[in-house]
Parts: sequence; C-alpha cells; structure tokens
Amino acid sequence: MAVATQDYGLFINGESTEPASGELRDLTEPATGAPLARVAMAKEQDVDRAVEAARAALEGPWGKTPPTERSRLLHALADALVANRKELCELEVRNVGKAISSVKAEHAQAVENFRFYASAIASIAGRSNPIGGSLLFYSLKEPAGVCGQIVPWNYPLMMTTWKLAPALAAGCTVVLKPDSATPLSALRMAELAAEVGFPAGAINIVPGPGPVVGAHLVRHPGVEKIAFTGSTATGSEIMRLASDGIKRLILELGGKSPNVIFADGELDDAVPSSVWSIYYSAGQSCEARSRVLVEAPLYEDFVAKFSELAGGLKVGDPLDPETQVGSLISTDHRERVHGYVETGREEGADVVTGGTVPEGDGAFYPPTVLAHADNSMRIAQEEIFGPVATVIPFEDEQDAVRIANESRYGLMATVWTADPERGHRLARRIKAGTVGINMPYTAFPGIPFGGYKQSGFGRELGLETLDAYLETKSVIVSTSPKPFNPFGL
Ligand code: NAD
Repeated sequence: MAVATQDYGLFINGESTEPASGELRDLTEPATGAPLARVAMAKEQDVDRAVEAARAALEGPWGKTPPTERSRLLHALADALVANRKELCELEVRNVGKAISSVKAEHAQAVENFRFYASAIASIAGRSNPIGGSLLFYSLKEPAGVCGQIVPWNYPLMMTTWKLAPALAAGCTVVLKPDSATPLSALRMAELAAEVGFPAGAINIVPGPGPVVGAHLVRHPGVEKIAFTGSTATGSEIMRLASDGIKRLILELGGKSPNVIFADGELDDAVPSSVWSIYYSAGQSCEARSRVLVEAPLYEDFVAKFSELAGGLKVGDPLDPETQVGSLISTDHRERVHGYVETGREEGADVVTGGTVPEGDGAFYPPTVLAHADNSMRIAQEEIFGPVATVIPFEDEQDAVRIANESRYGLMATVWTADPERGHRLARRIKAGTVGINMPYTAFPGIPFGGYKQSGFGRELGLETLDAYLETKSVIVSTSPKPFNPFGL
C-alpha cells in the first residue's frame, strides 16, 4: 500500500504494510473531533504474518544478535525517541487527547525504559556449581520466544515501551497489539526502531479489535508468552484464552487505589499531591488514587481544600502547555464516567465540585469530587477511569487499613503521615503492589510495578521483568573420563 502522510499501515517484518482486509479506520482527535488519521486494521491473517516474521527474526538475525549489540540498539532507539520528541508527543496528544504536560513526562519515562533495559542486559547470566561427584551444572538464560503484547489506550506510548524494552533486551521478538483507537505512537516507534537498525520482524505492530486480533494473538500456537495491560474483565478472558497453550503471562489490570491521609501530617504536601494523584491524565490511569481516605478530624477541612484545588485545575486544549487536564478518550467514555457520578449522587455522595458535562466540542469532563462517600458504594468499588475522586472518612489506623483493603483491586496505595513508623506499618499491611509514603509518584524504570489481587500478577519495569522474558535451561555435564553405566550393563 502507498501509505500517505495521514494513513498508517500495519507494521510487519520491518515495513508499513497493507492489511489483508484493506480496512482502514478513521481516527478523530478526542479533544476537537477533527479528523486525525486513517489506520489499517489487522485481521487474523495479518497476525499470522506478523507471528511468522517474529519467528523468522528470532531464529535468524535477532536471535544471533549478541547482548552488547541489543543494548546498543535499545540505546539507539532511546536516542531516536529523544530526537523525535516533539513529533511523538504531539502525535500522542492528538490521538489520546491528554495534556501535553503529561505526555512529555510519559515520553521521558519511555526513553528511560529503553535505557534501563539496555543496561539491565548485563544482568542476564546463568550460574554454575558442582552437583557432587563428577557432575557439573550450569544454567543458560534463553529468550522466552515470540511474545504477544497487548496495550490499552490510556498510555499508548509509555505502555508500548514498558512492553517492548524488557522483551527485546531478553532477546525475544514481539507482535504488539495497541488499542485500535490509539495505535499511532506505537506504529511510529516501530518505524524508528527499523531506522536505527532493529532487524525486520523483531518488532511488529498490529492494531485491531481486541476480541478478534488480540484474542487470535493470545491463542496463536506460534506465540510463547503474553504480556497484557488492560481491564480486569479482559485480563480474565486472556487467562482463559492463554490456558490451552500454557502461555507464560503477565497481567497488568485495573485498580481502585487508596490515598490515605492521616490528621498527624501537614496538608501542604498532601492536598496538592492528592489532587495530582487522581486528576493526572484526567484520571484515566490504572494507579489513579481514586479513593481518598481521610482521618475524621481532618475530613471537612481536607474536602474543602482538595475541592478548591481540583475545581481550579486548568481543563482544555491538550496542546496548551498550561493545561493540566485534557480531554477524555471519547464522548462515549465520558458518558460512562458521568454515569458513575450520577450513581454516586443516587448512592448519597455529595458532588462538591464538577459533575456536569460541559457544552462544546471534545470529550472534556471537569475534575469532580464525590464527598461523604462510603466504601461500600459502587463509586468506591468500581473503576471509574475518569477525573472523579471518591472521598471517604476513616476513624483510626485500623479502620484505614480495613477500608484500603476492602477492594478487589490492589495496584497502588499512598499514605500521608508525619509518623514514619506508621508509614512503614501501613506499607506492610496494605495489600498493593506499590505503596508510596509521603510522595505521590508511581512508576520508575527499575522499580517493579504490578498488582495484588485482581489488579493482576507479574511485574513490569523491574529487573525481575527481564527474567519473565527468559527461560532458564539447566545443563548437567559429566566431567568424568569414565563412561556412565547406570544399569550396570
Ligand atoms: P481493555 O481491557 O478494554 O483493552 C485493553 C487492550 O485489550 C486493548 O488493546 C483491547 O483491544 C484488547 N482486548 C480487548 N478485548 C480483548 C480480548 N478478548 N482478547 C485480547 N485482547 C483484547 O482496557 P482499556 O479500557 O483499553 O484500558 C483501561 C484498563 O486498563 C483499565 O482497567 C486500567 O486500569 C487498565 N490499565 C492497567 C495498567 C497497569 O499497569 N496495571 C496500566 C494501564 C491501564
């Protein structure tokens, strides 16, 4: 296919290519409704082609690429991301609708993810020790194989690097399926990877509908490992689909993370950080601290200050560097988010700020605070995935831990306290993959990130992630000159 400037093909075997069906999907900008691009949608045959290309690269040029060269290529891709920062960030903003201030931070992390795993390659090593007698054991770390990777629409650029970097560092090849609505940054990244020298077939990108293309990829007999980020409902389906082939799995799923604020601390840090923790990326974050738990004596004061800051956030043009909250991904998603706010009202929560659908173009929704809520309400138990905080009072430390843990999710938690012992105590008692004490940030290259409970299993971003893309092979050698004859024959 002649791919025009506005058109994107699939990325298979090192080049942009036409889909078997010839189908192109029209994408519009969530923030304006303006046409953005036309993108090829894959079908099962395209996945088959991509897996074949990934297999050929694994058994051919990529499989023969030594670790030092893999490291160099990952650094080269990081450099290419830096050199093309403006283009990539604007593409992501136009495609997802989120504020450029957020996207720049995500781009910076994307670069560091490649650099971290470029260095982490040095840690891939087997071990060796004598077993006893004349036997010697050594282990080999081998790539897990062809990896199917599926990412959601909320952080397409950053999530793509969470997936690609450890897989490529380990020597695997990849077929990655972005969400059909947000594939542009992943497709552009694959082009950059080809330009810096990744061999054809090492990285393949196949946008398309999840239940068709994603499901085919998960079930594909040519794929050894699956890494999935998305909702808990889809994660459960992926586990089922992967079970026939006994696929290795990493699942990064949903969250309803608590932000626990004790009355012993200063509000100067806790309030602005708590505002950021839910309204960053317009609340469309798996680890958004969407349940704000506040100790009773502080509750009314906190709600007033928190709501004032939330209501004053700058919502609007995502390309404006001053904007703090951009558009939601679509007006359909906004309907869903607003539906939860209506549910909160019906359940008896107070809408202190926000809670109305604005007039005009774009899928904007104001930062919304639902106060005087109870942890049993749907707005406290279900993932809203929008700029909506549910603020719940608690009585004491015991009560805070109980409420924090009364959730099917366990991705992240933040604790604000002036008492260091209490902070560390809660870090142990809250069931979550990451706990922040007196700081709001979540994900850093090198720090394992993932869920407890129905937020998934396996870790990304850490050194252990590299191991999840490797198989360990044990080799046992006889060092004796005498032949073995176990049956005494
Ligand atoms: P989703 O589960 O609807 O979709 C995620 C991806 O899965 C998309 O690419 C989609 O096309 C694909 N998919 C859908 N059905 C499929 C199927 N049957 N088989 C294979 N693939 C399928 O999730 P979403 O709405 O795009 O993303 C939001 C969710 O992702 C939220 O729940 C959020 O918490 C979660 N998330 C988690 C993390 C994390 O690291 N834990 C990070 C970001 C987002």
